Amino acid sequence: MKRIQMVDLIGQHAKIESELQEAIQRVMRTGAFVKGPEVQAFSEELAEHTGSSFVVPCGNGTDALQIALMALGVGPGDEVITTGFTFISTIEVVALLGATPVLVDVHPDTFNINADQVAAAITPKTKAIVPVHLFGQMADMDALLAISEKTGVPIIEDNAQAISARWFGSAGPRSDAPQSGTLGLMGTTSFFPSKNLGCMGDGGAIMTNDENVARTLRQIANHGMAKRYHHDVVGINSRLDGMQAAILRVKLNHLDAYCASRAEAAQRYDTMLSDVTLVKTPFRDPRSSHVFHQYTLQVAPEIRDALVQHLSDEGIPTGVYYPIPGHRQKAFAHCRYNPTDFPISEALSKSVISLPMHTELTESEQYSVSSTLVKFVMQVNLPV
Ligand SMILES: *Cc1c(COP(=O)(O)O)cnc(C)c1O
Repeated sequence: MKRIQMVDLIGQHAKIESELQEAIQRVMRTGAFVKGPEVQAFSEELAEHTGSSFVVPCGNGTDALQIALMALGVGPGDEVITTGFTFISTIEVVALLGATPVLVDVHPDTFNINADQVAAAITPKTKAIVPVHLFGQMADMDALLAISEKTGVPIIEDNAQAISARWFGSAGPRSDAPQSGTLGLMGTTSFFPSKNLGCMGDGGAIMTNDENVARTLRQIANHGMAKRYHHDVVGINSRLDGMQAAILRVKLNHLDAYCASRAEAAQRYDTMLSDVTLVKTPFRDPRSSHVFHQYTLQVAPEIRDALVQHLSDEGIPTGVYYPIPGHRQKAFAHCRYNPTDFPISEALSKSVISLPMHTELTESEQYSVSSTLVKFVMQVNLPV
């Protein structure tokens, strides 16, 4: 039997191999290896797909965040409000620019940033709010946009995990609702291979509906250069290469189908685990669609690590995102966060476990994952 995998890119790519080969050969034959027509075409196609006016491609999702903050002029003395229950990039780039990452806690159901705490953390030094649409579901954009409007502090959506998600707000599900990454002043994303839209290396992009912001972003990503060899601002070197863009163009055509596969897999896990009171299946916020970058359960903290080990012994990979919240990371000890300010992040870091989730996951594989998991938690019998 095939090994169950956390992410199955080989299987995903096998189904579109001829399309991918054709795209890669096209780049090889034209020789536009960095930037060039494929990058331009992909940027336009992604703008079209997401409903964003401008897409500025760059080297990866971390650079995308850094470039977005640089476009706002974030530097020493400034504060940026974000969540600590995220991948480190979100916090790291703030510190790299010499600004202070102001962390707030998350909601226990969505794992997303707590907007009330964001409002309370705003000071005259706040230069940006960076919500992360964690695991594929959007943060409370209604509340965050209201705060942004009231205070004038712009929002940068870290959309590395939720490309193609939609914000319904109170209006209910509809197919023309705005997409993640397009509601704030800017939205950033990553094309790291394991993301929902991944390439075969590194890649990233920033979205915006503001033409001036788009121009600034482009300039910063290109050594601060608008006109060749005229460097008007200090920039960085961050670019998407032609091969990755050509690959992304192919995969963008399949993104809707990939989202549907993930949603079906999530639904099957939900059904298989619905009667098991010892695990908490992912909460669905009715105000957002969920593109299931991760399918994340909560279990009793006493058994989480033993469960990870047991599943691993049975050949089932899992992930713990994230075992150490940002406020506890050594690199940020100088920020002197107080762990008691983050009770939800603290609890989640000890109780979450993400199951295999990808576009090629089969019902029988999921049955094997679920039944192995259920047998273990029943035998230990500790409530969440
Ligand atoms: C993956 C990820 C990033 C960083 O993207 P890279 O392309 O790996 O630099 C940033 N934020 C979040 C939430 C991510 O999941």
